[in-house]
Amino acid sequence: MRLHEYQTKQIISKYGIEIPRGEIAVNSNAVKQIAEEIGSEVVIKAQVLVGGRGKAGGIRLAKSPEEAHELATEIISMVIEGFPVKKVLVEEAINFDDELYVGVATDRNCSLPVMIGSGQGGIDIEETVLSSTEKVFRVHIDPLLGLREYQIRSLALSIDLPREYWNTFSKIANGIWNIYLDHDALLVEINPLVITSDRRLLALDGKMNIDDSALFRHPELADLQDLDKGKPAEIEAKKHGLSYIKMEGNIGCLVNGAGLAMATMDILEFFGGKASNFLDIGGGASAEEITFALRIIISDPNVEAILINIFGGITRCDEVAKGILTTLREIKPIFPVVVRLAGTNAKEGLAILNEEKIETAKSLVAAVKRAVELTKGAAK
Ligand code: GDP
Ligand code: MN
Repeated sequence: MRLHEYQTKQIISKYGIEIPRGEIAVNSNAVKQIAEEIGSEVVIKAQVLVGGRGKAGGIRLAKSPEEAHELATEIISMVIEGFPVKKVLVEEAINFDDELYVGVATDRNCSLPVMIGSGQGGIDIEETVLSSTEKVFRVHIDPLLGLREYQIRSLALSIDLPREYWNTFSKIANGIWNIYLDHDALLVEINPLVITSDRRLLALDGKMNIDDSALFRHPELADLQDLDKGKPAEIEAKKHGLSYIKMEGNIGCLVNGAGLAMATMDILEFFGGKASNFLDIGGGASAEEITFALRIIISDPNVEAILINIFGGITRCDEVAKGILTTLREIKPIFPVVVRLAGTNAKEGLAILNEEKIETAKSLVAAVKRAVELTKGAAK
C-alpha cells in the first residue's frame, strides 16, 4: 500500500523530521485560504500515487494567494497518468542550496533492510541510480542490531554532507529507520532532503510503501488507504477478492490460479493472440464470482472474444459451468466464448455447456487457437 506524500509527511514529522509548513486542500478556495495563512510564496503539489508529478506539471509555485487559487484550479482538473487529482498539498515554498536523497528499503537480494543515500537527490534520482552507481551509497542494516551510528556517519561521509548537518542527519536516518520498523514498511524515502538556504535539513518530499501482508497489524493505517490507486475496474475487482489487471489486447481471459492465468496469456501470445486482461478468480470460485468476473471482462470495450480456462482442483468444473451458463444467459455477450475445462468434474461441466451450445475445446491449445481464430474474423 502506497501512502500519499502528505500522509508520509505527517508520519515523518511525528518522528522529529522537519517538513515545510503546509496543509491539504480539495478545492481552490481552500488553497487560497491556506496560502493567505502561510503568508509567503507557496508550492502546490498534486497528491497522486504516481511518480514524476513535477514533470507532468503537478507541482507549481505561486507568488500570491490569487495565483495559488488560479494554479490550484488547473492542478485539481488534471489527470496524471490516469489518476485524477483530488487533493493538493499547499506548502510554504522553500529556498534550498542542495537536494539529497535518503531512504530505507527492503533489499530482497540480501534479505535485509538497506539504507540508501545520495548527494544528488531530486527528480532525476532514478536516472542517477541507473547511470552513475558511484553516486548512490548503500548500507545494509542487521535487523537484530538495528541502524548503528557508524553506519549513519559513513553514509554522511559518502554523500559529502557538511559536518554541521551530521547531527540532524543522524536524527533523520534514525527517524526513517524507526518509521520503517514501526509500520512494516517496504520503503520509506525522503527525496529530496534539502539543505535550505538558512541551513536546515528539511524533507521536501516523502514516499512510503507499506507491506500489504502486514496491514492487519496496523488498523491505524487502514484509513489512509486510497482505493483510487488503480483503474476503476481493477478497484471493483479487488473489492470482490479477484485480481484483475487490464491489458491492451482483445481476448478476455477468465482463469483460476495466477500461475495458470499467466501460462494462458503466454500460450495465447504464442499463437498470435493478445489478452485484454489478467484475471485470477482464485480457488473454489462460486457462480456469483464468475458472473462478476465476466462482467468486469466485458466492461472493457476492446474485448472481442472470451477465453475461459479452468483447471478443477478444489474448484468443481460443473459448478463453474453452471456459473458460466447463468451469466451468459443474463448478460448475453455479443461476442464468442470458448471454454476449456479440465480436472474435477470436467465431464459433467462440459456436458452442461454442450447442452446449451456453448463452445468448448478439448485442450488448452485448441481453446487458445480457437479464440485467436474467432477474433481474427471479428469486425471492429
Ligand atoms: P516529485 O516530482 O513527485 O518527486 O515531487 P517533489 O516533491 O520531489 O518535487 C520535485 C522537485 O520540485 C524537487 O526536487 C524540487 O526541485 C522542486 N520543489 C518542490 N518543492 C519546492 C519548494 O518548496 N521550493 C523549491 N524551490 N523547489 C521545490
Ligand atoms: Mn520527489
